[in-house]
Amino acid sequence: MINRYAKQELFIGEIGQQNIKNASAIIIGVGALGSSIAEMLVRAGVGNLTIVDRDYVEWSNLQRQTLYTEDDARNKLPKVIAAKNRLQQINSEVVINSFITDITSLNIEELIKDQSIILDATDNFETRMVVNDAAVKHGIPFIFGACVASYGLTFPIIPGKTPCLNCLLNHIPSLNMTCDTVGVISPIVQIIAAYQVTYAMQYVTNCELPTSLQSIDIWKHEKSEINISKLKNDNCPTCGPNQNFPYLATVNELKTDVLCGRDAIQLRVMSPNSLSLKDTSKRLIGIVSDLIVNPYLLSCTFESHRIVLFKDGRAIIHGTKEPSVAKELYNKIVG
Ligand SMILES: [Zn+2]
Repeated sequence: MINRYAKQELFIGEIGQQNIKNASAIIIGVGALGSSIAEMLVRAGVGNLTIVDRDYVEWSNLQRQTLYTEDDARNKLPKVIAAKNRLQQINSEVVINSFITDITSLNIEELIKDQSIILDATDNFETRMVVNDAAVKHGIPFIFGACVASYGLTFPIIPGKTPCLNCLLNHIPSLNMTCDTVGVISPIVQIIAAYQVTYAMQYVTNCELPTSLQSIDIWKHEKSEINISKLKNDNCPTCGPNQNFPYLATVNELKTDVLCGRDAIQLRVMSPNSLSLKDTSKRLIGIVSDLIVNPYLLSCTFESHRIVLFKDGRAIIHGTKEPSVAKELYNKIVG
């Protein structure tokens, strides 16, 4: 029998390979970082992989989101569906669970509770803080990663050992820029993803992890390492002695999010009684244009806005950053 992991096993040993197979990893977001992390973990032979993402594949993703093809963009496949298809072609031995959803304080604990490790591949701090609270509460390592333009940051958060993201908020170099305004190039994504996967492999094979933050600008050929071991906040509400997990406690009442990198608003309907895409599409014939329905979502154009409805009741309204405009359009279509 040919051992597909032979070269890796020479480096990490048979026990190391078994540790990777026994591990379960969750990736929060399968955009640029998530694509590369998922492919590396699946090729490395992780036993169980969970991917979570709220969005679908668009043409502007193809420049850096390495799991996706033009067909995926044409068919508007949800990212987790397209990703799972591709990942199972790469390695059919891995069990892959996929969720088309938004990460909130309501679902995060259920998603992460049985995982060995959590990999951050989201594009916003609100979500990261929710994940950080849940990771610390359940004692699961959380590997931070973020990129913008040619610049990226990464560090491992090990509950009980390192500071958490909440401790470090005021120490992390500013990431106020977004892909929206300055864009992003693929090489920095691949580097940060490589660090994150290395940390994950080191953790599950019981190797020492660094207590430092890596900061890299690939275009300027600059790299720095900041020791974060002494930056633990003694009064941190997430990992301090009086922890109250503020980001899990606040039931997220926000019903609208401005999406990073897009002129678009996401609406999250709080009572997610599953939307029948078929019935809705029948009703919309003659009212909207460019109507496309697949088993996961419905896409159409209405009053020159592109609108995408998901089965869980979420909607993405393009062509506006105004929540009130988005809500009005949603009500006109879904009622
Ligand atoms: Zn903390």
